[in-house]
Amino acid sequence: MIVSTDPATGAELARYQPQSAQEVDGILDAAASAQAAWRRRPVTERTPLLREMARVLREGRDTYAALITAEMGKPITEARAEIDKCAWTCDYYADHAPAQLADRPVTSNAAESAVVYDPLGVVLAVMPWNYPFWQFFRFAAPALAAGNGALLKHANNVPQCALAVEEVVRKAGAPEGLCRTLLVEVGQVAGLIADPRIAAVTLTGSTEVGAIVAAQAAAVLKKQVLELGGSDPFVVLADADIAQAAATAVKARYVNAGQSCVNAKRFIVEEAVADEFVQAFTAAAAALKVGDPTDPDTAIGPMARANLRDTLHDQVRRSVAAGAVLALGGEVPDGPGCYYPPTVLDHVRPGTAAFDEETFGPVAAVTRAADADEAVALANRTEYGLGAALWTSDLDRARRLARVLDAGAVFVNGMVASDPRLPFGGIKKSGYGRELGAEGIREFVNVKTVWIG
Ligand code: NAP
Repeated sequence: MIVSTDPATGAELARYQPQSAQEVDGILDAAASAQAAWRRRPVTERTPLLREMARVLREGRDTYAALITAEMGKPITEARAEIDKCAWTCDYYADHAPAQLADRPVTSNAAESAVVYDPLGVVLAVMPWNYPFWQFFRFAAPALAAGNGALLKHANNVPQCALAVEEVVRKAGAPEGLCRTLLVEVGQVAGLIADPRIAAVTLTGSTEVGAIVAAQAAAVLKKQVLELGGSDPFVVLADADIAQAAATAVKARYVNAGQSCVNAKRFIVEEAVADEFVQAFTAAAAALKVGDPTDPDTAIGPMARANLRDTLHDQVRRSVAAGAVLALGGEVPDGPGCYYPPTVLDHVRPGTAAFDEETFGPVAAVTRAADADEAVALANRTEYGLGAALWTSDLDRARRLARVLDAGAVFVNGMVASDPRLPFGGIKKSGYGRELGAEGIREFVNVKTVWIG
Protein backbone atom coordinates (compact mmCIF):
# COMPACT_ATOMS: atom_id res chain seq x y z
CA MET A 1 0.00 0.00 0.00
CA ILE A 2 1.25 3.50 -0.84
CA VAL A 3 0.34 5.91 1.94
CA SER A 4 0.51 9.70 2.05
CA THR A 5 0.96 11.07 5.59
CA ASP A 6 1.24 14.66 6.81
CA PRO A 7 4.58 14.76 8.70
CA ALA A 8 3.47 17.84 10.66
CA THR A 9 0.59 15.98 12.31
CA GLY A 10 0.95 12.29 11.54
CA ALA A 11 -2.50 12.30 9.89
CA GLU A 12 -3.05 9.99 6.94
CA LEU A 13 -3.96 11.97 3.83
CA ALA A 14 -4.51 9.32 1.17
CA ARG A 15 -3.67 5.74 0.29
CA TYR A 16 -3.24 4.00 -3.03
CA GLN A 17 -3.16 0.42 -4.13
CA PRO A 18 0.03 -0.20 -6.15
CA GLN A 19 -0.68 -0.74 -9.83
CA SER A 20 -0.97 -4.36 -10.95
CA ALA A 21 1.52 -5.98 -13.31
CA GLN A 22 -1.11 -5.73 -16.03
CA GLU A 23 -1.64 -1.99 -15.51
CA VAL A 24 2.10 -1.38 -15.55
CA ASP A 25 2.39 -3.37 -18.76
CA GLY A 26 -0.24 -1.18 -20.39
CA ILE A 27 1.57 1.99 -19.28
CA LEU A 28 4.86 0.70 -20.70
CA ASP A 29 3.25 -0.18 -24.03
CA ALA A 30 1.56 3.20 -24.30
CA ALA A 31 4.77 5.05 -23.43
CA ALA A 32 6.79 3.12 -26.01
CA SER A 33 4.36 3.83 -28.82
CA ALA A 34 3.87 7.49 -27.82
CA GLN A 35 7.64 7.98 -27.77
CA ALA A 36 8.05 6.35 -31.20
CA ALA A 37 5.83 9.09 -32.63
CA TRP A 38 7.19 11.90 -30.42
CA ARG A 39 10.77 11.32 -31.56
CA ARG A 40 9.76 12.01 -35.17
CA ARG A 41 8.71 15.54 -34.39
CA PRO A 42 11.45 18.13 -34.78
CA VAL A 43 12.65 19.65 -31.51
CA THR A 44 10.95 22.97 -32.31
CA GLU A 45 7.63 21.10 -32.37
CA ARG A 46 8.39 19.47 -29.03
CA THR A 47 9.38 22.56 -27.07
CA PRO A 48 5.89 24.16 -27.07
CA LEU A 49 4.92 21.35 -24.66
CA LEU A 50 7.51 22.68 -22.21
CA ARG A 51 6.18 26.21 -22.55
CA GLU A 52 2.72 24.88 -21.67
CA MET A 53 4.10 22.88 -18.73
CA ALA A 54 5.55 26.13 -17.36
CA ARG A 55 2.18 27.82 -17.78
CA VAL A 56 0.25 25.00 -16.08
CA LEU A 57 2.72 25.00 -13.19
CA ARG A 58 2.35 28.75 -12.68
CA GLU A 59 -1.42 28.56 -12.95
CA GLY A 60 -1.60 25.78 -10.33
CA ARG A 61 1.23 27.17 -8.16
CA ASP A 62 -0.70 27.44 -4.90
CA THR A 63 -2.40 24.05 -5.23
CA TYR A 64 0.81 22.25 -6.12
CA ALA A 65 2.82 24.00 -3.41
CA ALA A 66 0.18 23.06 -0.83
CA LEU A 67 0.49 19.39 -1.86
CA ILE A 68 4.27 19.47 -1.35
CA THR A 69 3.81 21.03 2.09
CA ALA A 70 1.13 18.51 3.07
CA GLU A 71 3.03 15.42 1.99
CA MET A 72 6.61 16.15 3.02
CA GLY A 73 6.42 19.18 5.32
CA LYS A 74 8.30 21.79 3.28
CA PRO A 75 7.46 25.32 4.48
CA ILE A 76 4.91 26.78 2.09
CA THR A 77 7.13 29.69 1.02
CA GLU A 78 9.82 27.25 -0.10
CA ALA A 79 7.22 25.01 -1.76
CA ARG A 80 5.99 27.92 -3.89
CA ALA A 81 9.59 28.72 -4.83
CA GLU A 82 10.00 25.08 -5.89
CA ILE A 83 7.08 25.38 -8.32
CA ASP A 84 8.51 28.64 -9.70
CA LYS A 85 11.85 26.96 -10.33
CA CYS A 86 10.19 24.07 -12.18
CA ALA A 87 8.40 26.56 -14.44
CA TRP A 88 11.64 28.47 -15.03
CA THR A 89 13.39 25.25 -16.03
CA CYS A 90 10.65 24.30 -18.49
CA ASP A 91 10.96 27.78 -20.02
CA TYR A 92 14.76 27.51 -20.07
CA TYR A 93 14.67 24.31 -22.12
CA ALA A 94 11.86 25.63 -24.32
CA ASP A 95 14.23 28.49 -25.17
CA HIS A 96 17.49 26.58 -25.44
CA ALA A 97 16.80 22.94 -26.42
CA PRO A 98 16.74 23.70 -30.18
CA ALA A 99 20.26 25.16 -30.07
CA GLN A 100 21.56 22.55 -27.59
CA LEU A 101 20.33 19.72 -29.82
CA ALA A 102 21.15 21.30 -33.18
CA ASP A 103 23.02 19.12 -35.66
CA ARG A 104 26.76 19.78 -35.54
CA PRO A 105 28.41 19.59 -38.98
CA VAL A 106 31.94 18.14 -38.88
CA THR A 107 34.46 18.21 -41.70
CA SER A 108 35.72 14.69 -42.53
CA ASN A 109 36.43 12.60 -45.59
CA ALA A 110 32.68 12.45 -46.29
CA ALA A 111 30.86 14.74 -48.66
CA GLU A 112 28.85 15.63 -45.63
CA SER A 113 29.15 14.51 -42.01
CA ALA A 114 27.54 15.62 -38.81
CA VAL A 115 26.83 14.76 -35.22
CA VAL A 116 23.10 14.63 -34.44
CA TYR A 117 21.32 14.11 -31.12
CA ASP A 118 18.58 11.51 -31.23
CA PRO A 119 16.52 10.41 -28.21
CA LEU A 120 17.18 7.11 -26.44
CA GLY A 121 13.55 6.06 -25.83
CA VAL A 122 11.51 5.86 -22.65
CA VAL A 123 13.49 6.81 -19.55
CA LEU A 124 12.57 5.48 -16.10
CA ALA A 125 13.00 8.09 -13.36
CA VAL A 126 13.27 6.89 -9.74
CA MET A 127 12.92 9.99 -7.62
CA PRO A 128 13.07 11.12 -3.96
CA TRP A 129 10.56 13.04 -1.89
CA ASN A 130 12.68 16.01 -0.85
CA TYR A 131 11.85 18.23 -3.86
CA PRO A 132 8.92 16.22 -5.19
CA PHE A 133 8.21 18.53 -8.14
CA TRP A 134 11.70 19.83 -8.86
CA GLN A 135 13.40 16.42 -9.00
CA PHE A 136 10.93 15.34 -11.65
CA PHE A 137 10.87 18.48 -13.82
CA ARG A 138 14.61 19.00 -13.89
CA PHE A 139 14.83 15.53 -15.44
CA ALA A 140 11.64 15.56 -17.52
CA ALA A 141 11.90 18.99 -19.20
CA PRO A 142 15.15 18.23 -21.05
CA ALA A 143 14.32 14.53 -21.54
CA LEU A 144 11.00 15.31 -23.23
CA ALA A 145 12.52 18.13 -25.27
CA ALA A 146 15.12 15.65 -26.53
CA GLY A 147 12.34 13.35 -27.77
CA ASN A 148 12.27 10.80 -24.97
CA GLY A 149 9.31 9.44 -23.06
CA ALA A 150 9.34 9.56 -19.25
CA LEU A 151 7.98 7.21 -16.59
CA LEU A 152 8.19 8.26 -12.97
CA LYS A 153 8.51 5.98 -9.95
CA HIS A 154 8.36 8.53 -7.19
CA ALA A 155 9.18 8.07 -3.50
CA ASN A 156 6.23 6.36 -1.91
CA ASN A 157 5.61 9.04 0.71
CA VAL A 158 4.67 11.60 -2.01
CA PRO A 159 2.07 9.80 -4.18
CA GLN A 160 -0.17 12.85 -4.49
CA CYS A 161 2.73 14.91 -5.82
CA ALA A 162 3.58 12.02 -8.15
CA LEU A 163 0.08 12.12 -9.61
CA ALA A 164 0.09 15.92 -9.73
CA VAL A 165 3.25 16.12 -11.87
CA GLU A 166 1.69 13.66 -14.29
CA GLU A 167 -1.37 15.92 -14.38
CA VAL A 168 0.80 18.97 -15.21
CA VAL A 169 2.26 17.25 -18.25
CA ARG A 170 -1.13 15.95 -19.37
CA LYS A 171 -2.81 19.35 -18.96
CA ALA A 172 0.03 20.87 -20.97
CA GLY A 173 -1.04 18.68 -23.90
CA ALA A 174 1.55 15.89 -23.96
CA PRO A 175 0.70 13.00 -26.26
CA GLU A 176 -1.30 10.32 -24.44
CA GLY A 177 0.98 7.93 -22.58
CA LEU A 178 4.27 9.77 -23.22
CA CYS A 179 4.84 10.75 -19.62
CA ARG A 180 3.22 8.79 -16.79
CA THR A 181 3.50 8.11 -13.10
CA LEU A 182 3.87 4.52 -11.97
CA LEU A 183 2.43 3.83 -8.53
CA VAL A 184 4.65 0.88 -7.77
CA GLU A 185 6.66 -0.43 -4.88
CA VAL A 186 10.41 -0.82 -4.67
CA GLY A 187 10.28 -4.53 -5.51
CA GLN A 188 8.83 -3.73 -8.94
CA VAL A 189 11.71 -1.46 -10.01
CA ALA A 190 14.17 -4.17 -11.08
CA GLY A 191 11.63 -5.61 -13.51
CA LEU A 192 11.04 -2.16 -14.98
CA ILE A 193 14.76 -1.54 -15.47
CA ALA A 194 15.10 -4.88 -17.27
CA ASP A 195 12.04 -4.32 -19.46
CA PRO A 196 12.97 -3.78 -23.13
CA ARG A 197 10.54 -0.88 -23.37
CA ILE A 198 12.74 1.08 -20.93
CA ALA A 199 15.85 2.52 -22.58
CA ALA A 200 17.60 4.23 -19.67
CA VAL A 201 17.33 5.04 -15.97
CA THR A 202 17.83 8.12 -13.86
CA LEU A 203 17.88 7.90 -10.08
CA THR A 204 18.01 10.67 -7.54
CA GLY A 205 18.32 9.24 -4.07
CA SER A 206 20.68 7.78 -1.55
CA THR A 207 24.08 6.35 -2.39
CA GLU A 208 22.96 2.92 -1.12
CA VAL A 209 19.97 2.76 -3.47
CA GLY A 210 22.09 4.27 -6.26
CA ALA A 211 24.43 1.30 -6.05
CA ILE A 212 21.50 -1.14 -6.25
CA VAL A 213 19.87 0.55 -9.23
CA ALA A 214 23.22 1.04 -10.98
CA ALA A 215 23.94 -2.69 -10.71
CA GLN A 216 20.50 -3.57 -12.07
CA ALA A 217 20.92 -1.20 -15.01
CA ALA A 218 24.46 -2.39 -15.65
CA ALA A 219 23.26 -6.00 -15.83
CA VAL A 220 21.14 -5.06 -18.84
CA LEU A 221 23.63 -2.45 -20.12
CA LYS A 222 21.32 0.53 -19.84
CA LYS A 223 22.49 4.10 -19.56
CA GLN A 224 22.11 5.62 -16.09
CA VAL A 225 22.36 9.00 -14.45
CA LEU A 226 22.82 8.91 -10.68
CA GLU A 227 22.29 11.94 -8.47
CA LEU A 228 23.07 10.66 -4.99
CA GLY A 229 23.89 11.82 -1.51
CA GLY A 230 26.30 14.52 -0.45
CA SER A 231 28.20 15.88 2.52
CA ASP A 232 29.03 19.26 1.09
CA PRO A 233 31.77 21.28 2.75
CA PHE A 234 31.32 25.01 3.37
CA VAL A 235 34.87 26.29 3.76
CA VAL A 236 35.42 29.62 5.52
CA LEU A 237 38.94 31.04 5.31
CA ALA A 238 40.23 33.67 7.71
CA ASP A 239 40.06 36.51 5.17
CA ALA A 240 36.33 35.95 4.43
CA ASP A 241 33.51 38.30 5.34
CA ILE A 242 32.54 36.28 8.40
CA ALA A 243 29.17 37.91 9.07
CA GLN A 244 28.08 37.35 5.48
CA ALA A 245 29.49 33.82 5.44
CA ALA A 246 27.63 32.89 8.63
CA ALA A 247 24.34 34.36 7.38
CA THR A 248 24.60 32.45 4.08
CA ALA A 249 25.78 29.31 5.88
CA VAL A 250 22.58 29.20 7.93
CA LYS A 251 20.51 29.32 4.76
CA ALA A 252 22.76 26.75 3.09
CA ARG A 253 22.33 24.28 5.96
CA TYR A 254 18.70 24.73 6.99
CA VAL A 255 16.78 25.23 3.74
CA ASN A 256 14.25 22.40 3.32
CA ALA A 257 14.86 21.48 6.99
CA GLY A 258 18.31 20.36 5.93
CA GLN A 259 16.94 17.70 3.60
CA SER A 260 18.68 18.66 0.39
CA CYS A 261 21.52 16.81 -1.27
CA VAL A 262 23.41 20.11 -1.67
CA ASN A 263 22.78 21.54 1.75
CA ALA A 264 26.11 22.57 3.24
CA LYS A 265 26.68 19.90 5.88
CA ARG A 266 30.25 20.30 7.08
CA PHE A 267 31.43 23.81 7.98
CA ILE A 268 35.20 23.88 7.80
CA VAL A 269 36.48 27.07 9.33
CA GLU A 270 40.00 28.42 9.81
CA GLU A 271 40.75 28.39 13.52
CA ALA A 272 41.50 32.16 13.62
CA VAL A 273 37.87 33.02 12.82
CA ALA A 274 36.11 29.89 14.08
CA ASP A 275 34.74 31.33 17.34
CA GLU A 276 33.36 34.38 15.56
CA PHE A 277 31.77 32.21 12.87
CA VAL A 278 30.26 29.70 15.30
CA GLN A 279 28.80 32.46 17.44
CA ALA A 280 27.14 34.23 14.49
CA PHE A 281 25.98 30.96 12.93
CA THR A 282 24.52 29.57 16.15
CA ALA A 283 22.69 32.82 16.97
CA ALA A 284 21.11 32.91 13.49
CA ALA A 285 20.20 29.21 13.61
CA ALA A 286 18.58 29.63 17.02
CA ALA A 287 16.44 32.46 15.63
CA LEU A 288 14.90 30.32 12.84
CA LYS A 289 11.19 29.87 13.30
CA VAL A 290 10.32 26.18 13.58
CA GLY A 291 6.71 25.11 13.25
CA ASP A 292 3.64 24.71 11.08
CA PRO A 293 4.84 24.45 7.47
CA THR A 294 1.64 26.01 6.14
CA ASP A 295 2.52 29.28 7.95
CA PRO A 296 4.38 31.59 5.52
CA ASP A 297 6.62 32.79 8.38
CA THR A 298 7.91 29.30 9.18
CA ALA A 299 11.54 28.66 8.25
CA ILE A 300 11.78 25.03 9.37
CA GLY A 301 8.94 22.53 9.17
CA PRO A 302 8.95 18.90 10.22
CA MET A 303 11.26 16.37 8.68
CA ALA A 304 9.56 14.27 6.04
CA ARG A 305 9.34 10.97 7.91
CA ALA A 306 9.84 9.71 11.47
CA ASN A 307 12.55 7.22 10.45
CA LEU A 308 14.61 10.05 8.91
CA ARG A 309 14.47 11.93 12.20
CA ASP A 310 15.48 8.82 14.14
CA THR A 311 18.51 8.31 11.89
CA LEU A 312 19.54 11.95 12.25
CA HIS A 313 19.17 11.97 16.02
CA ASP A 314 21.25 8.82 16.25
CA GLN A 315 23.98 10.54 14.21
CA VAL A 316 23.93 13.48 16.62
CA ARG A 317 24.15 11.19 19.65
CA ARG A 318 27.03 9.22 18.17
CA SER A 319 28.87 12.42 17.23
CA VAL A 320 28.57 13.82 20.76
CA ALA A 321 29.71 10.50 22.20
CA ALA A 322 32.76 10.74 19.93
CA GLY A 323 33.70 14.19 21.23
CA ALA A 324 31.67 16.74 19.25
CA VAL A 325 30.34 19.65 21.31
CA LEU A 326 26.61 20.32 21.10
CA ALA A 327 26.24 24.10 20.67
CA LEU A 328 22.52 24.16 19.82
CA GLY A 329 19.51 21.82 19.62
CA GLY A 330 20.03 18.09 19.63
CA GLU A 331 16.83 17.14 21.48
CA VAL A 332 13.77 15.48 19.95
CA PRO A 333 10.84 17.74 20.92
CA ASP A 334 7.67 16.40 22.55
CA GLY A 335 4.43 16.50 20.62
CA PRO A 336 3.13 15.37 17.25
CA GLY A 337 4.99 15.69 13.98
CA CYS A 338 8.50 14.74 12.87
CA TYR A 339 10.15 17.93 14.12
CA TYR A 340 13.85 18.26 14.84
CA PRO A 341 15.36 21.54 16.03
CA PRO A 342 18.17 23.43 14.27
CA THR A 343 21.25 21.78 15.72
CA VAL A 344 24.90 22.82 15.74
CA LEU A 345 27.78 20.49 16.55
CA ASP A 346 31.15 22.16 17.10
CA HIS A 347 34.64 20.60 17.19
CA VAL A 348 33.59 17.78 14.87
CA ARG A 349 36.55 15.71 13.67
CA PRO A 350 36.94 13.13 10.92
CA GLY A 351 35.91 9.74 12.24
CA THR A 352 32.73 11.23 13.73
CA ALA A 353 29.28 10.42 12.32
CA ALA A 354 28.49 14.06 11.49
CA PHE A 355 31.71 14.29 9.47
CA ASP A 356 31.83 10.88 7.80
CA GLU A 357 28.14 10.29 7.07
CA GLU A 358 25.56 12.33 5.19
CA THR A 359 23.35 14.13 7.72
CA PHE A 360 19.99 14.61 6.00
CA GLY A 361 18.29 17.08 8.33
CA PRO A 362 18.87 20.31 10.29
CA VAL A 363 22.26 19.47 11.82
CA ALA A 364 25.40 21.51 11.14
CA ALA A 365 28.86 20.12 11.85
CA VAL A 366 31.69 22.63 12.43
CA THR A 367 35.27 21.50 11.99
CA ARG A 368 38.18 23.77 12.74
CA ALA A 369 41.20 23.84 10.43
CA ALA A 370 44.67 25.19 11.19
CA ASP A 371 45.04 26.90 7.80
CA ALA A 372 43.67 26.99 4.25
CA ASP A 373 45.58 23.88 3.17
CA GLU A 374 44.17 21.84 6.01
CA ALA A 375 40.70 23.25 5.29
CA VAL A 376 40.83 22.01 1.70
CA ALA A 377 42.18 18.63 2.79
CA LEU A 378 39.32 18.26 5.30
CA ALA A 379 36.78 19.38 2.69
CA ASN A 380 37.97 16.59 0.38
CA ARG A 381 38.12 14.00 3.16
CA THR A 382 34.73 12.51 2.34
CA GLU A 383 33.29 9.74 0.20
CA TYR A 384 30.99 12.29 -1.41
CA GLY A 385 31.61 14.93 -4.06
CA LEU A 386 28.47 16.88 -4.91
CA GLY A 387 28.97 20.58 -4.13
CA ALA A 388 31.38 22.75 -2.15
CA ALA A 389 31.28 26.38 -1.02
CA LEU A 390 34.39 28.44 -0.44
CA TRP A 391 34.52 31.78 1.33
CA THR A 392 37.51 34.09 0.95
CA SER A 393 38.11 37.68 -0.12
CA ASP A 394 41.08 36.66 -2.27
CA LEU A 395 39.52 35.70 -5.61
CA ASP A 396 42.78 34.54 -7.18
CA ARG A 397 43.19 32.09 -4.35
CA ALA A 398 39.52 31.12 -4.73
CA ARG A 399 39.99 30.28 -8.41
CA ARG A 400 43.03 28.16 -7.55
CA LEU A 401 41.37 26.31 -4.68
CA ALA A 402 38.16 25.77 -6.67
CA ARG A 403 40.18 23.53 -8.98
CA VAL A 404 41.40 21.28 -6.17
CA LEU A 405 38.11 20.84 -4.35
CA ASP A 406 36.68 17.41 -5.28
CA ALA A 407 33.08 18.30 -6.13
CA GLY A 408 30.74 18.63 -9.10
CA ALA A 409 30.31 22.34 -8.32
CA VAL A 410 32.22 24.94 -6.33
CA PHE A 411 30.48 28.14 -5.31
CA VAL A 412 32.74 30.96 -4.14
CA ASN A 413 31.27 33.42 -1.64
CA GLY A 414 27.83 31.92 -2.09
CA MET A 415 25.85 28.77 -1.38
CA VAL A 416 25.56 25.77 -3.66
CA ALA A 417 22.24 25.72 -5.50
CA SER A 418 21.05 24.24 -8.75
CA ASP A 419 20.33 26.55 -11.68
CA PRO A 420 18.86 25.34 -15.00
CA ARG A 421 21.61 27.20 -16.88
CA LEU A 422 24.44 25.32 -15.15
CA PRO A 423 25.15 21.58 -15.08
CA PHE A 424 24.49 19.82 -11.78
CA GLY A 425 25.80 16.51 -10.49
CA GLY A 426 28.50 14.83 -8.51
CA ILE A 427 31.61 12.72 -8.41
CA LYS A 428 32.71 9.91 -6.09
CA LYS A 429 29.76 8.40 -4.16
CA SER A 430 27.56 11.36 -5.11
CA GLY A 431 27.01 9.67 -8.45
CA TYR A 432 27.70 10.37 -12.10
CA GLY A 433 26.17 12.13 -15.04
CA ARG A 434 24.81 15.65 -15.10
CA GLU A 435 21.41 17.27 -15.07
CA LEU A 436 20.53 20.80 -16.22
CA GLY A 437 22.38 23.05 -18.66
CA ALA A 438 23.50 21.81 -22.07
CA GLU A 439 25.23 18.80 -20.46
CA GLY A 440 21.95 17.69 -18.86
CA ILE A 441 19.94 17.59 -22.07
CA ARG A 442 22.64 15.46 -23.71
CA GLU A 443 22.53 12.67 -21.11
CA PHE A 444 19.57 10.85 -22.61
CA VAL A 445 20.48 11.17 -26.28
CA ASN A 446 22.18 9.01 -28.83
CA VAL A 447 25.12 11.09 -30.03
CA LYS A 448 24.89 9.84 -33.57
CA THR A 449 27.37 10.25 -36.40
CA VAL A 450 25.78 10.64 -39.84
CA TRP A 451 28.27 10.18 -42.71
CA ILE A 452 27.24 10.79 -46.31
CA GLY A 453 29.69 9.84 -49.06
P1 NAP B 1 16.18 6.66 -1.25
O1 NAP B 1 15.74 5.86 -0.11
O2 NAP B 1 17.40 6.30 -1.97
O3 NAP B 1 14.92 6.71 -2.24
C1 NAP B 1 14.98 7.32 -3.50
C2 NAP B 1 14.05 6.60 -4.47
O4 NAP B 1 14.53 5.28 -4.68
C3 NAP B 1 12.61 6.46 -3.97
O5 NAP B 1 11.73 6.54 -5.05
C4 NAP B 1 12.62 5.06 -3.39
O6 NAP B 1 11.33 4.47 -3.36
C5 NAP B 1 13.50 4.34 -4.39
N1 NAP B 1 14.10 3.10 -3.87
C6 NAP B 1 14.39 2.79 -2.59
N2 NAP B 1 14.95 1.57 -2.53
C7 NAP B 1 14.99 1.09 -3.78
C8 NAP B 1 15.45 -0.12 -4.36
N3 NAP B 1 15.99 -1.10 -3.63
N4 NAP B 1 15.35 -0.28 -5.70
C9 NAP B 1 14.83 0.71 -6.46
N5 NAP B 1 14.37 1.86 -5.98
C10 NAP B 1 14.44 2.07 -4.65
O7 NAP B 1 16.42 8.17 -0.87
P2 NAP B 1 15.57 9.08 0.09
O8 NAP B 1 15.90 8.76 1.50
O9 NAP B 1 14.14 9.04 -0.29
O10 NAP B 1 16.17 10.53 -0.32
C11 NAP B 1 17.25 11.07 0.32
C12 NAP B 1 18.56 10.79 -0.39
O11 NAP B 1 18.52 11.29 -1.73
C13 NAP B 1 19.71 11.51 0.26
O12 NAP B 1 20.81 10.66 0.32
C14 NAP B 1 19.98 12.66 -0.68
O13 NAP B 1 21.27 13.19 -0.62
C15 NAP B 1 19.67 12.09 -2.00
N6 NAP B 1 19.36 13.15 -2.97
C16 NAP B 1 20.26 13.44 -3.95
C17 NAP B 1 20.04 14.48 -4.84
C18 NAP B 1 21.01 14.82 -5.93
O14 NAP B 1 20.64 15.53 -6.85
N7 NAP B 1 22.24 14.34 -5.89
C19 NAP B 1 18.87 15.22 -4.73
C20 NAP B 1 17.96 14.91 -3.71
C21 NAP B 1 18.22 13.86 -2.83
P3 NAP B 1 10.48 4.34 -1.99
O15 NAP B 1 10.12 5.70 -1.57
O16 NAP B 1 9.30 3.53 -2.40
O17 NAP B 1 11.36 3.64 -0.99
